[in-house]
Amino acid sequence: MSEFVLYNTLSRQVEPFAPADGSCVRMYTCGPTVYNPAHLGNFRTFLFEDLLRRALALRGWGVEQVMNLTDVDDKIIKRANERGLTIRQVTDPVVEIFHAHREYLRIQPAEHYPRATDYIPQMIALVETLIAKGVAYQADDRSVYFAIDKFPAYGRLSRLDTREIKVGARVSQDEYTKDNAQDFALWKAAKDEDERVEAAWESPWGRGRPGWHLECSAMAMDILGESIDLHAGGVDLIFPHHEDEIAQSEAATGKVFARCWSHGEFLLVDSAKMAKRVGNVWGVVELQEEGLDGAAARHFMFGTHYRQQLNLSSAALDASRRAVRRIGDLAARLSAATGAPSALLDVAIEAEADFRIALNNDLNAPQALSALFVFVNRVNALLDQGGDDVAALGRARAAFGVMNGVLDLIPAPAAADEALTGRVAAAIAARADARVRRDFAESDRIRASLAAEGIVLEDGPTGTSWKRI
Ligand code: AMP
Ligand code: ZN
Repeated sequence: MSEFVLYNTLSRQVEPFAPADGSCVRMYTCGPTVYNPAHLGNFRTFLFEDLLRRALALRGWGVEQVMNLTDVDDKIIKRANERGLTIRQVTDPVVEIFHAHREYLRIQPAEHYPRATDYIPQMIALVETLIAKGVAYQADDRSVYFAIDKFPAYGRLSRLDTREIKVGARVSQDEYTKDNAQDFALWKAAKDEDERVEAAWESPWGRGRPGWHLECSAMAMDILGESIDLHAGGVDLIFPHHEDEIAQSEAATGKVFARCWSHGEFLLVDSAKMAKRVGNVWGVVELQEEGLDGAAARHFMFGTHYRQQLNLSSAALDASRRAVRRIGDLAARLSAATGAPSALLDVAIEAEADFRIALNNDLNAPQALSALFVFVNRVNALLDQGGDDVAALGRARAAFGVMNGVLDLIPAPAAADEALTGRVAAAIAARADARVRRDFAESDRIRASLAAEGIVLEDGPTGTSWKRI
């Protein structure tokens, strides 16, 4: 079995990866901020993580994945105030939509989906520990901050030049840039707008709410333990979010927080990052309106390595739509076949081996896809030849099961296809009736009208079948 290697942002190198206990990967993935349905950029990251968990499982390891739901933050509080709702009333429906869209994209459920607002006591305990260790302090604005100059390793993940750290200066927003590296908020003193929407809790420092970075440290350590195997997210989280998670967790425990940090690149539209504030957002709803199967969306995302940027376009989605149709056709053909030429055995073994090598090699999905499509071409050619080797056929089915078990690319029979099937069946029956009546003009008319939509009828000994050309 080839070794599993993964790029580690901490070392900037591709390294061998294995879970610390040798059997189960404890993995934390930063989840959506649930104030708007997640967009396809977010889902590119979640699909990369889905592929990662399935590849780890294929390698033979168990996976315990946490994906948090950030259900308290500035944007949520603003929305709740605008609408006269509590933050829960804003976030509950968005959480539901998130799961529906996750299922459409066939993203396997994580083992845990903790909501930040359910972990306030753990967050308060973590801040208390940090204050007791002298790395956090309450400022005169009543908020509690992390003192980054007290944590010498600050900046290691993002390769921040520590000379740029502004000692004693503070930043209260959750999002800021490297040239603004200052003490960041762990606990934010409550304002009226927080109280109005039920986004404030009692704490030893007065009423307030957690900072975004604190949420992830507290939930990760509470659920998975102080030292985890793998932490993943999009590249925009490297600084400050993950840098701050490391600072809070490691300053509190003195242990390595995550051994491997894995980051997925952006999904772009016209070469700009897909983001709400850029106004170039596509969601799952737009894909559904186009009648695109989730399998095609997966194929599109996996066609580019996770560490490379990917441009979204209708042409690329259409190509993926056609590609997964071929996979669906092959699946049907493999299950209908009763035998195959013996040469299929080696084809199956080689395809599966190539596929595993590709995924073990820093999750090389494009290479895994190409192993699958080489297999599709070869199987089609061999099945055209006929043959009666049942064992070879069984091995090909198994190899296909392994590959599709990870990529999950068979399109569901679309409602449109079902409607078409019904309509063509009705036309075939009407044509058969016309022929019984010897009304050949009518039977020819039916055949011609189907041909105009690209549907060809074939009369055989057992009746009339049809195909799309
Ligand atoms: P958020 O809801 O903004 O916290 O983001 C959830 C996840 O989506 C994070 O891991 C982000 O890094 C990721 N993300 C946001 N925008 C994009 C994008 N355009 N392409 C890929 N991942 C993204
Ligand atoms: Zn996080």
